[in-house]
Amino acid sequence: MDPIVRMLETVLDDVRGRDDGSVADYIPSLASADPDRLAFAVVGPRGHVTSVGDDHVPFTIQSVSKPFVLALALEQFGRDAVFARVGVEPSGEPFNAISLEAGTGRPANPMVNAGAIVTTSLLGEMGDAGETSDAGDAVSRSETIVAGLSRFAGRQLSVDEEVYRGESETGHRNRALAYLTRSHDIIRGDVPTVVETYFRQCSILVTVRDLAVMGATLAFGGVNPVTGERVVREDVARDVVSVMASCGMYDYSGEWLLRVGLPAKSGVSGALLAIAPSQFGVATFSPRLDRHGNSVRGIQILERMSTEFGMHVFEPHEAIAAPGIRIDHAEGRVIVHLGGELAFSGAERLIGVLSDLADGALTDEAILVDATELARAHPAALELLRRQLEAHGGRLHFLD
Ligand code: GLN
Repeated sequence: MDPIVRMLETVLDDVRGRDDGSVADYIPSLASADPDRLAFAVVGPRGHVTSVGDDHVPFTIQSVSKPFVLALALEQFGRDAVFARVGVEPSGEPFNAISLEAGTGRPANPMVNAGAIVTTSLLGEMGDAGETSDAGDAVSRSETIVAGLSRFAGRQLSVDEEVYRGESETGHRNRALAYLTRSHDIIRGDVPTVVETYFRQCSILVTVRDLAVMGATLAFGGVNPVTGERVVREDVARDVVSVMASCGMYDYSGEWLLRVGLPAKSGVSGALLAIAPSQFGVATFSPRLDRHGNSVRGIQILERMSTEFGMHVFEPHEAIAAPGIRIDHAEGRVIVHLGGELAFSGAERLIGVLSDLADGALTDEAILVDATELARAHPAALELLRRQLEAHGGRLHFLD
């Protein structure tokens, strides 16, 4: 078995027994979700998707759509136009609170419902130059969003019509939020069209693998590591990741940043997406939610990953994305010199280099890895190397 798969399986097995929390029940199709579903996926810089558990089970993206729709709006209209209508301050309030700035009526941030509905409205209301135009109905507007999110996922996504109907039948609070922002001229177009577009956006079907690829696209500066396509500009990806870091987990965002330290976004279907900048995108799916509306086991999985593998963004990092890898041929041997800091993504690249070398005509040559110039190696990187080498009959061995 692939060593990373084994590593992910171990983490899943450890959280499987946890059954606290409850599934969202505001619409029948979410209430009937199997609460025991559990899946976990990681995508690194080479675009290799590793996933375990119920990794092919589709679920609706819900609030995890918010950062990606924000990205589409920022890409199209720029920072000033977008943040004139929605703020970037954590609200400290639940996802569906009336978090509007006194006076302006600007929602606190684009990760809570009020702000996300405004972001969605921008995509339909503004023309390419940013002027108000209010073009298209909810279906055609949501198709633009589906197309944008599909580029993040690297495959064509679609809307679950039954979930959409449920959202629309029960979404009175979201309508109220939208009308409030409309009264402040923050939303400028037709409110019913905007809200239905938002409901359709929440109802886009994804798997945990899709979410991890979408997250990885943000982690790698807007380039989808699977398809190689640039989906959004680097500054857009950075802005979105920043907002996720401060606001992505609703009124648990501060504690999450402290304990896990990875920009993230959760959704009411039990989806959770986290980003390790320049390292990987990671997603979990487990429908039981805590009182903040965040997946109980998803949080546990990511907390464990972050602690065990030193992934907190505020850990001291040096040259984390690009360890120096230099190759020398000497006396019939190949020596791979490492410098800088070796993290998860660097280990993945190193494995690529080593396997290319091993595939070459090296039958009588040994490959040595010289780590004397390596400033620091993350536990995750060493674990990955050790497991990968063992899987190929090799061994990680330290010389003084
Ligand atoms: N569709 C949900 C809503 O708007 C999304 C909220 C969420 O995932 N937290 O209420």
